[in-house]
Amino acid sequence: MTQTDAAYKARDVTGYADVPHEEKERLFDQVKADPRFGDYLYGCYECGICVAVCPSARFYDFSPRRIAQAAAREDAELVYQQMQEDIWECSQCFSCVRCPRGNNPGGLITIMREVAVNNGLASAKEALVGYSRIIYKIMSTGTQVSPDMLQQDAFPDWGPETADVSANLDLWRRALPPETLHTTNTGWKVADSTLIELYLIWLHTGALDMIEDVDPSLHAILQEVMEERLEEEGIEP
Ligand code: SF4
Ligand code: SF4
Repeated sequence: MTQTDAAYKARDVTGYADVPHEEKERLFDQVKADPRFGDYLYGCYECGICVAVCPSARFYDFSPRRIAQAAAREDAELVYQQMQEDIWECSQCFSCVRCPRGNNPGGLITIMREVAVNNGLASAKEALVGYSRIIYKIMSTGTQVSPDMLQQDAFPDWGPETADVSANLDLWRRALPPETLHTTNTGWKVADSTLIELYLIWLHTGALDMIEDVDPSLHAILQEVMEERLEEEGIEP
């Protein structure tokens, strides 16, 4: 244990004293090294406007002001705690760009999420459990959310109405006027060419590699789906 670690361990304010301070600094350095970081943070007036407009702050113990302040103060300990506890509460609506200082707390969170995923943090693994069905759906149909995904166990925070909607889903969908919406297992039909383009983007941007670090099982399934479809199109993955 280094002297710095011992000092932080002694005043363990974040609850992550077992993680070396150098590791937290390393992760924060990755956040700051992102080319977007300089455009997303210019300091903080602590005015709270971002909190007032933030929908997630209404429902969770979450504050975009705290995100901006921790980064502005270069507090690697607090930034690490936020990457483990807070960043997945953000709905990425970017209402917080109303910041009079020109900050983009939601954008900072985007960067922090990417660093959390790239480094396989526990919070990222936990968050991906909820997203895995969505990622698989995108991969297999090209659409993000289909009506049959509205199951109460997958979205417990959506309230008891979800159970009623999912129990009568077929009826609800057939009540919609456009016949193209009379389906439950896909939101809308995506052209094969669009789906192939999506696979190639995932492949060449390294998005699939990010998933491998966090959830190897999900990655294996996605890889198989993608390779099969690309081979059908005569494209070498
Ligand atoms: S992007 Fe996130 S932090 Fe910003 S207002 Fe929306 S939910 Fe809040
Ligand atoms: S709106 Fe901007 S300046 Fe005000 S608290 Fe939020 S991040 Fe800080």
